[in-house]
Amino acid sequence: KHLCPTSSSRLTIDLGAIRDNYRLIAARIAPAMCSAVVKADAYGLGAARVAPMLRDAGCGIFFVAQLGEAIALREALGAGSEILILNGVDPGGERLCADHGLIPVLNSLSQVERWRTLARERGTALPAALQVDSGMSRLGLDARSVATLADDAAFTREVSLRLLMTHLACADAPGNSANEAQLARFALARARFPGVPASIANSGGSFLPEEFHCDVARPGIALYGVAPSALAEGLRPVATLAARVIQIREIEAGTGVGYGLDYIASERRRLATVGIGYADGWPRHLSNVGAVWHQGTRLPITGRVSMDSLTVDISALPDEALAEGDFVELLGPSQTLDDVAGEAGTIAYEILTQLGRRHERRYV
Ligand code: PLP
Repeated sequence: KHLCPTSSSRLTIDLGAIRDNYRLIAARIAPAMCSAVVKADAYGLGAARVAPMLRDAGCGIFFVAQLGEAIALREALGAGSEILILNGVDPGGERLCADHGLIPVLNSLSQVERWRTLARERGTALPAALQVDSGMSRLGLDARSVATLADDAAFTREVSLRLLMTHLACADAPGNSANEAQLARFALARARFPGVPASIANSGGSFLPEEFHCDVARPGIALYGVAPSALAEGLRPVATLAARVIQIREIEAGTGVGYGLDYIASERRRLATVGIGYADGWPRHLSNVGAVWHQGTRLPITGRVSMDSLTVDISALPDEALAEGDFVELLGPSQTLDDVAGEAGTIAYEILTQLGRRHERRYV
């Protein structure tokens, strides 16, 4: 939805690039199946647009983090697709989860118990995935709990186990021995549940050797065009961000710029104030550090990033190159998500998911 026909900033999302990235990963991991992680509104890019496109491209399994996201996604996708909830189901959410045909990832014995209680109440087996903690110490059952469930015949009657999964802590570091250690621990859990499909690979894992692909891979960030590791080649960038120049000025040497007057011009400068700020997810950490671009020319940020604007030095451009209302590039051919994340001291995931709701969004 467009907030206004002349929004200060424009986020362009290339659905065709997401589809190509999905196909590239699916081809790499075949015959394993490729699901899609579309939590946090498809990493900020709009799950209601991204997920139906991926379904039409052949994706049948979707992961979100929370029940609310799952219910919204069910509305967008209709019946048919499998929707799994990575955080499992919070106490009190079990009925809603089952009523919408959603599949919780059960991470603890107490989550398992609440799901079994509902199954007994309804007199039917309820579908679920089971997450094993193979070494990340974030979510999932330990080896003893896995054994307890595997030995419990009533568990397999009450819960229809669709997937056994675990998550890699270091998939972005292909040489890290923690990956093999997690794979080995996961193999022990898989042996307890023969015949149940298994999943370990996120984006990074999808580019690790074949033994990491198991039956289902769960890529997220790679779909959105960010390489998870040096092994990932050929992904197409997805998000382009541009913002308008809202004012141009010249300042004399010694003039301060922005909150705190953190930037003092050492000589005469031309500045442009651009209509995007930290409320739009453009990190305040880029104050005096980052840049925007205009047709291949770097325009350094001068002073602090404000809530709705930032100021850049355009002295490197010819006088007539930029006018009020023109767009400058924040994400695009000259500046990637990884570039921005590196300068802001964070990761591309965080930049992407924080981009916010104020941009005019264009899906191409
Ligand atoms: N699987 C789980 C359990 C996750 O938490 C995530 C995201 O953090 C993913 C898969 C997708 O990860 P990535 O975006 O690195 O591919």
